Amino acid sequence: MTCQKCKGLMIEERQPELSPDMVGHRCVNCGLFVDPLIQHNRKSHARSREALVQAV
Ligand SMILES: [Zn+2]
Repeated sequence: MTCQKCKGLMIEERQPELSPDMVGHRCVNCGLFVDPLIQHNRKSHARSREALVQAV
């Protein structure tokens, strides 16, 4: 897996305090952390932004 921001190497990283069952990915280059929840949130944000643009 490569970082979407800097194309650096991403390693698996668990965040037990946030969600015990979930494994996210941390970029060793820029420190960007992605997990399934964040990606889901980004998607729904993008969708609501599209709806806004269409409304205007
Ligand atoms: Zn990166």
